[in-house]
Amino acid sequence: MIYFDHAATTPLAPEVLEEMLPYMQDFYGNASSIHAMGRRSRTAIERARKIIAGHLNASIGEIFFTSCGTESSNMALTAAIRDLGVKHIISSPIEHHCVFHTIDALAKYGDVQKHTVQLLPNGHVDLAHLEELLLSLQIGPTLVSLMHVNNEIGNILDLPTVSALCEQYGAFLHSDTVQTWGFQRIDVQKTKVNFLTGSAHKFHGPKGIGFIYVNSDYPVQPMLFGGSQERNMRAGTENVYGIVGMAKAFDLAYTHLDENRNHILGLKNKMMAALRQEIPAISFNGDVEGSSSYKILNVAFPPSSNADLLLLNLDIAGICASGGSACSSGVDKGSHVLQALQGKDSTTVNVRFSFSRYNTEKEVDKVVDKLKEILKV
Ligand code: PLP
Repeated sequence: MIYFDHAATTPLAPEVLEEMLPYMQDFYGNASSIHAMGRRSRTAIERARKIIAGHLNASIGEIFFTSCGTESSNMALTAAIRDLGVKHIISSPIEHHCVFHTIDALAKYGDVQKHTVQLLPNGHVDLAHLEELLLSLQIGPTLVSLMHVNNEIGNILDLPTVSALCEQYGAFLHSDTVQTWGFQRIDVQKTKVNFLTGSAHKFHGPKGIGFIYVNSDYPVQPMLFGGSQERNMRAGTENVYGIVGMAKAFDLAYTHLDENRNHILGLKNKMMAALRQEIPAISFNGDVEGSSSYKILNVAFPPSSNADLLLLNLDIAGICASGGSACSSGVDKGSHVLQALQGKDSTTVNVRFSFSRYNTEKEVDKVVDKLKEILKV
């Protein structure tokens, strides 16, 4: 099996599992209990919060644990309207569904008006159009919600510039940073934002645990009510081993960031070069040689009878890749991101390959060979 679908999810790092196991087997205390077992869990949670806050240069009071990236973005968008008085949201057509559908739902219920920023041909947000929108929306509190690393095409938003524009026009800023953590750094002292989101399973941590950064200058109210967990901000007994695992995965990723980046970028570059050489009719979706994530390569194959079943044939050959956002795999609706980029009538067959530190050059060779065989080139 060759796994080239790390933007969908990543395998748990062995070091992370090792860190989690004691909290699954022996240290099972409820962090709200005041006895020794409870205190042990509480200490582990607070240690994890400190690790994550440290890597963001945030204060520990600005990090809240959630169940996933989807919950974190729902919380940010809902709280911005309810607690910060936001009446307008500017967002892009290529957001992850957890942002895209949430804004649409909030707009449908009449809570907010959605404004869509245009894209440039390479898939980046048109910052001049963003500024035009911000200028025209100075009538009411506005939230800009733009993802940092696009999960399908890998484009990286110029977050410092967007942050500066938001500051200039008095807008709040939320960024879906689920694909960022463990691969890029954001220093929240240098880049001012209101909300950032994270999800452990994207950086070799466990599934079912995420976090939200909430800038303490603009506090918000809870979305889940109940117990006083997460300083009253997110009720529900804490997922202690998930939190411990997420912090370990976060720390591991940043400790070895440069070596991992060099390795993964090497794989992406090798695959790009080999595909260009062996299958010259292909192209790449997004700003692949510009501001782009080193772990994502989205390839557009020209239409042909062999290309039609490409993903299925790769799967049969034991190669895991993705045709678009994995979050809606099984629902054959096509990718809204690629539609926004290529237009509805595009006939290319798009496959996203996404790499991790566990992949090898040999695997790249095997995948390219298999692609040649399937496509009969
Ligand atoms: N945002 C982006 C950019 C993603 O890629 C994903 C998952 O694919 C999510 C949000 C959702 O994260 P989660 O699976 O933790 O809900």
